[in-house]
Amino acid sequence: MAKAFLDKQGVLYESIDVGEDTDAAKKMIELSGQRGVPVITVDDEVIVGFDSQRLNELFGSASPSEIYDVLIAGAGPAGLTAGVYCARKMLNTIIISENIGGQALESWAIENYMGYRMITGEELMKKFEDQVRTLKMRLELDRIVKISKEDDIFTIRTISEQTFKAKTLILAQGNRPKKLGIANEEQFLGHGLSICSTCDGPLYKGKKVAVVGGGNSALQTAVEMSKFTQSVTLIVRRSIRADPVYVKMLETKKNITLYLYTQITALHGDKFLSGITIRNEKGEEQKIDLDGVFVEIGWLPNTDMLDGFLALNEKKEIIVDINCHTSMAGVFAAGDITSVKSKQIIIASGDGAKAALEAHEYVLKSAPQSGK
Ligand SMILES: Cc1cc2nc3c(=O)[nH]c(=O)nc-3n(C[C@H](O)[C@H](O)[C@H](O)COP(=O)(O)OP(=O)(O)OC[C@H]3O[C@@H](n4cnc5c(N)ncnc54)[C@H](O)[C@@H]3O)c2cc1C
Repeated sequence: MAKAFLDKQGVLYESIDVGEDTDAAKKMIELSGQRGVPVITVDDEVIVGFDSQRLNELFGSASPSEIYDVLIAGAGPAGLTAGVYCARKMLNTIIISENIGGQALESWAIENYMGYRMITGEELMKKFEDQVRTLKMRLELDRIVKISKEDDIFTIRTISEQTFKAKTLILAQGNRPKKLGIANEEQFLGHGLSICSTCDGPLYKGKKVAVVGGGNSALQTAVEMSKFTQSVTLIVRRSIRADPVYVKMLETKKNITLYLYTQITALHGDKFLSGITIRNEKGEEQKIDLDGVFVEIGWLPNTDMLDGFLALNEKKEIIVDINCHTSMAGVFAAGDITSVKSKQIIIASGDGAKAALEAHEYVLKSAPQSGK
């Protein structure tokens, strides 16, 4: 129960099995003066048993009456950077996010984030997270399902039925992957069809795979996967729209077969995917036997809950000005969820910083001053 509680609250901890480690068992008895488990140490405090009241005081959910200065939605590069800036401005800050790291976690190799010649997305986002965790702010792992505003205070509801209130919002929920839009897609997801090559890619060692898409992510995935799979079929609906650096890499790979002006029309298999049918612009079809398909065809902004609440553009991105202001006073937005054209880690982070500074100014000048 203690571990489940800490996991849910996103608290990092070290777990020691005193059943296995006799020295640790001795130390635990000395520290706590008793023999029961669990014993939890937080700084110098020793908590005996699953003391939910004390754990809630230390790490638990917000009391419903607490009003945060800033609530940040999303913990990708934009949200985490905004968190650091808010905490350094001494704003009472909470970040609510489904995961920590966002899309960047899925990058095999980042070569354009300043300060690192090359770093994996996972490593870079761990560094972001470590920096956030050194500062005073709350990090809640949950999915936001509703945002509303009453008397200049914003209310956020989550899928686990928690409610949070804040004077100002920074929206940084980023994007989610687009789907192929063909039959059986849901059935094969996780059974040969993947939208996360860095997560699932290693399971396809020595196998035949296809990558769908013609942008940077698709080409990067095809190149990386060609290093450990038997073959990669790259299926591009129109022409390639990737940076020349990726096109050059692609050209050096002998086990990648490229199909331009082609799309997948059917997925085949029983429990697991065993093949696909592709069709070219002339309408010619071909069946290819393979073990996995990795979809890299772009992203949609996570703004479903914001339709009617904020002004969105035709792509359903939040319209922002150059200072990350949205159409509503007190709501700021940063990163891939916004109308800013370029979707990159450094840009999302930069805008996260800008949004935080604007939120700080708003809290000082315009937000309701009561409420804590
Ligand atoms: C495969 C791949 C490779 C890439 N390679 C590079 C690269 O090499 N260099 C580069 O600069 N960029 C790269 N990018 C782009 C980069 O990752 C994004 O531009 C960046 O992550 C955007 O950051 P963000 O914080 O705006 O959004 P995201 O990273 O999308 O983060 C959004 C966060 O919000 C959370 N969230 C979403 N909805 C909700 C909700 N309802 N409630 C709570 N939380 C929610 C998500 O869980 C996530 O944590 C790559 C992207 C991909 C997919």
